[in-house]
Amino acid sequence: MKESHMRVLLVGAKGRMGRTIVDLAMAERNIEVVAQCDLGDAIAPAMANADVTIDFSHADVIEEICRAATEHRKPLVIGTTGHSQAQRELIQKTARSMPVVLASNFSVGVNALFALTRRAGEILREFDVSIVETHHKTKKDAPSGTAKTLAQIAKGTRKVDKEIPIESVREGEVVGEHSVTFAGRGERLELTHRAESREIFARGALRAAEWVVGKPAGLYSMQDVLGLGL
Ligand code: NAD
Repeated sequence: MKESHMRVLLVGAKGRMGRTIVDLAMAERNIEVVAQCDLGDAIAPAMANADVTIDFSHADVIEEICRAATEHRKPLVIGTTGHSQAQRELIQKTARSMPVVLASNFSVGVNALFALTRRAGEILREFDVSIVETHHKTKKDAPSGTAKTLAQIAKGTRKVDKEIPIESVREGEVVGEHSVTFAGRGERLELTHRAESREIFARGALRAAEWVVGKPAGLYSMQDVLGLGL
């Protein structure tokens, strides 16, 4: 056992993100993954000995996670994407009684992309905006949660209330790419982020977990964790 440490319950532990977090946490002196849940494991009992739960599993697991968090009054870091409207409302309800970080993307670079998209959208109000996201073939949801967040940010900068088109490409083993294009008369501006490793998300999720322990109840974003105040 590590000396002074934050105890983490990991949900979705056998998945790509789960395995990356386990590997990364092993190298951290102050973080210990004390419980791992995947398909078929009960979440509530595993939460009893953890300071915080990190979820990278499937959207439908959220009901069980929120029930367990309410029972144990433990903070959550939710990285899973693809939640329905009802599931998002459940997360909001849970965040009224404990601190919850919900982020469609935990990478510092993508969070900079969020901020830059807002700024570019404000400057280029007349330009058309579109988004292209590319991920590996086995990704379950489309469009990606990150693309939806980018669309929401860009939409907030438009004069006319119009949906922002999103194209989703599923090919090879791409970890994640997001491009936002602003097209005007005779010119285009493109902002692109390329994730080269899942470690960037894992590192961000562990940072969010350390940050959220001891915070007042509320729904927080990675922007809050990073102090970007978007
Ligand atoms: P994955 O398919 O490799 O892993 C998901 C894991 O969850 C699997 O091991 C699966 O068995 C497990 N799981 C499914 N149902 C479960 C249940 N009922 N209880 C417990 N475990 C269950 O997927 P992944 O690439 O690791 O991604 C997981 C999620 O995280 C996806 O929603 C993905 O979009 C999201 N994601 C978010 C970020 C971010 O920065 N927020 C980054 C990467 C991936």
